Amino acid sequence: MSKEVLLNLICGDNEECREELLNIPKELNSFLGSSQLTPSLKSFTPPLLKQVENLGDYEALVGDQSLGQLIVARKLASMYGGSFRGWSEDYCPICGRRPQLFLVRKVNSAFFEGKERVARCVCGFTWRYKWWRCPNCGVEGRENFDVFINEKLEGIFFNKCRRCGFVHVEAYGEVDEVAQYALRILANHVA
Ligand SMILES: [Zn+2]
Ligand SMILES: [Zn+2]
Repeated sequence: MSKEVLLNLICGDNEECREELLNIPKELNSFLGSSQLTPSLKSFTPPLLKQVENLGDYEALVGDQSLGQLIVARKLASMYGGSFRGWSEDYCPICGRRPQLFLVRKVNSAFFEGKERVARCVCGFTWRYKWWRCPNCGVEGRENFDVFINEKLEGIFFNKCRRCGFVHVEAYGEVDEVAQYALRILANHVA
């Protein structure tokens, strides 16, 4: 799947929009690198973001509440993601979000060859996830979803829950970070 196609779908020929999208990962990383702050946790209860005592310091640092929270969440994911191996809930243990993006990857072992689906949160945390389950209302089964595709986006499926309307994206193959952001944006525009 080409990133160029995604950029076109979201931004058309708006250069500024394209620049912004392309720079998201770089910008987040530069904030992470420059900040001397460390998130301090009240307790180790998921979602961890809710336990951060100095969240306000981050929000003040970047001058934006949701960006500040995203930066803290990414930091927490890199620090503590390993503590949540085997996580199987419908929300992210780091930031509490419902996952919107799912990556499908091949799994091969000596005895088994197949695919697995992992939820990829915007904070960077990744966990294995059931097939055909809505992360918003928990309904399960293929029959509960309308599937939308765009012929320009190979290997990308937008699954809309018939019960609650939540849209999640399933992506087969390599999807870099810019494309991941772009797919989440597109998911919010599936009617
Ligand atoms: Zn998260
Ligand atoms: Zn649902």
